[in-house]
Amino acid sequence: MEKLALYGGAPVRTSVLSYGQQWIEDHDVQAVVDTLRGSFITQGPNIDAFERAVADSCGAKYAVAFSNGTAALHGAAFAAGIGPGDEVITSPITFVASSNCVLYQGGTPVFADIRPDTYNLDPEAVRAKITERTKALIPVDFTGQPAEMDAFRRLADEHGLVLIEDAAHSIGATYKDRKVGTLADMTMFSFHPVKHITTGEGGIIVTDREEYAEKLRLFRSHGITRDAKLLTKPDEGPWYHEMHELGYNYRMTDLQAALGTSQMQRLDEFVARRREIVAAYDQAFVEFAGIVTPFQHEDTNSSWHLYILRFQRDKFTASRKQIFEALRAENIGVNVHYIPVYTQPYYQGLGYEKGLCPHAEALYEEIITIPLFPKMSAEDIADVIRAVGKVHAHFYKA
Ligand SMILES: *Cc1c(COP(=O)(O)O)cnc(C)c1O
Repeated sequence: MEKLALYGGAPVRTSVLSYGQQWIEDHDVQAVVDTLRGSFITQGPNIDAFERAVADSCGAKYAVAFSNGTAALHGAAFAAGIGPGDEVITSPITFVASSNCVLYQGGTPVFADIRPDTYNLDPEAVRAKITERTKALIPVDFTGQPAEMDAFRRLADEHGLVLIEDAAHSIGATYKDRKVGTLADMTMFSFHPVKHITTGEGGIIVTDREEYAEKLRLFRSHGITRDAKLLTKPDEGPWYHEMHELGYNYRMTDLQAALGTSQMQRLDEFVARRREIVAAYDQAFVEFAGIVTPFQHEDTNSSWHLYILRFQRDKFTASRKQIFEALRAENIGVNVHYIPVYTQPYYQGLGYEKGLCPHAEALYEEIITIPLFPKMSAEDIADVIRAVGKVHAHFYKA
């Protein structure tokens, strides 16, 4: 057996392989430089072009870009009319932004449990949490695998709820051969560098409903409008504008939009490469007893933001923490996605109790995210597989 780096052996790699990272090429750099040399570095024409590119890529009518995905979710919560007294049901296995956007609006996040196989929000668990106060549902396409959107659509229609899809992980994915971006009332994509394409920071909402698009545009720019149809004093003068809502400055810059439009050219290629890496991982890890690889629902074709291994607790002589540290010592930049949101101290302070979602809490104890990004080389992939093999050989209870 090879000596683990954790115990002084030679690590599989000499440099750290991060779990996710961007892929920027000369055409991306050029697009940003061209913008810098032009007239508009913000509030210019690149925003429309980027919004069009994203909307067209998924077949949505409208897209409204934001400074980041969290701001975009905040906008969606505003456009959905979420306010004090309203409940919004979401998953605990997500980034904190999925539920923070409800708190920003004064609403109450309600956490329903996940399915133990897909790790996505369970429609039956959601149904059980619907009350007269429920206003919206925010399913999350965890790891890039779409949630069961037909079931959520039915629940939303039955109860008159707004359906907001947190698709930060799933641009380019399909559900029953329909593209993510056409499944919910509003769908959010994030362009943080670990996501499929990047604008540095950035996010967007796509929607087919004009009234949502209008509210989103108002919200991202101070709640101010110059639209003559909406002004109370349309004849005041050419300088005139009115603030109709308490909005924010959540605008994306033209530098970011230029980068985003350039990156969008490679979205399909990036998704294809992620699927290739996943196929290699699936094939390698099926050999390792005690490790559960990602289960895929037959209705979905994931775009694979994350690849998560589940180390069954009773099958290893080491804790998840030790396994994690052993992989890090091999210079594999592993991570954990996610700590159940309501167990965060802030949420505990709001009164959410441990034990609320048992499947989510059990999942959290056993998972490790391994590197997955399109720029990974064949050697990088082999290194990850070798490191997992080394650690498995060491800690698996034979
Ligand atoms: C990344 C992410 C967000 C927020 O996006 P930012 O662009 O980082 O603000 C929201 N939800 C999920 C599930 C994410 O992974």
